[in-house]
Amino acid sequence: PEAITIQELANRMSERAVDVIRMLMKQGAMHKITDVIDADTAQLIAEELGHTVKRVAASDVEEGLFDAVDDSTDTEPRSPVVTVMGHVDHGKTSLLDALRHANVVSGEAGGITQHIGAYQVSSPETGKKITFIDTPGHAAFTAMRARGAKVTDIVVLVVAADDGVMPQTVEAINHAKAARVPIIVAINKIDKPDAKPERVRTELLQHEVQVESFGGDVVDVEVSAKNKTNLDKLLEMIALQAEILDLKTNSHRPAEGTVIEAKLDRGRGPVATVLVQRGTLHVGDIIVAGAEMGRVRALISDQGETVQEAGPSVPVEVLGFNGPPEAGDRLAVVENEARARQITSYRAHQKRENAAASISGMRGSLEQMMS
Ligand code: GDP
Ligand code: MG
Repeated sequence: PEAITIQELANRMSERAVDVIRMLMKQGAMHKITDVIDADTAQLIAEELGHTVKRVAASDVEEGLFDAVDDSTDTEPRSPVVTVMGHVDHGKTSLLDALRHANVVSGEAGGITQHIGAYQVSSPETGKKITFIDTPGHAAFTAMRARGAKVTDIVVLVVAADDGVMPQTVEAINHAKAARVPIIVAINKIDKPDAKPERVRTELLQHEVQVESFGGDVVDVEVSAKNKTNLDKLLEMIALQAEILDLKTNSHRPAEGTVIEAKLDRGRGPVATVLVQRGTLHVGDIIVAGAEMGRVRALISDQGETVQEAGPSVPVEVLGFNGPPEAGDRLAVVENEARARQITSYRAHQKRENAAASISGMRGSLEQMMS
């Protein structure tokens, strides 16, 4: 049920909180400024104080922001988005680094690019691009899923050939299955003398991951991130899987995307790495993500270059937010600043109320416990 703190209600009416408390007292209820009252009571009080009340539903404010349901205009192919998961120390970071450098644009000094949390490489066979989310870790994946963001098309499951299936391997399998994302297994550290790739395949079987050589349909590739063995083959398998998925989009519409990570940079202000998922994001666009808004001041590619726009499956750093959004927040372009303000102030406000409601809920249960 909807609820509001007394302070918040007073703020919105530009009244003093004590007057709201006094009004509630007249009705026989004793309250503190931090108490939460339900929407009906709030409406009564507001009307008593001579305000007209307009209750806004989330559906009104958010309407038309994401029309994921209408995908009839998604007819252009797009690159797959890949997340690398696996047990700690099995080589996720090493593999991501190796893939990144296997494919660095020639002429780039030493291949030193700044990390922006995601990058694209070209598949050696077809030249088609693959987008890697460079924030390995199940936490990021889970956080995004919890917020309803689906960014990953394919999970690359890294399993060290000398260690086999471990607890976080199983966790990753469960995440991928729950999200209905296909898995490609990268059996890593194949260079090690004690590597036992066949044992990995057997262990995976126990977790309902059946590789092709065992009659299943999960592709596995033996790799060494250290020696850069079979990386091209891995990229090729990803490209093949992507073809099967037949990923489509529409680049000719206002951008929609997801915040991969965000921070407050000393020199540049709020910086968000965004994966554009549909449409095209342009410099100058007015954007909202979570409770933050802004106007795109600059876009920076994974190569560290300033770009004017970013299309579907392209990761970019976005400068111009008024504050840093949160990882997993969905980004949308809106028509003007007034609309952006309406959406973000509504969301900020929901956030405060949820926080207040959970605190008062906690207090309530504590009181029950004490009595
Ligand atoms: P993460 O925790 O999954 O990100 O694993 P890291 O990429 O940090 O790797 C953990 C350790 O394994 C590091 O010491 C790496 O140098 C080593 N490592 C990663 N890949 C390979 C590989 O292919 N062969 C060998 N021999 N060592 C590797
Ligand atoms: Mg790592």
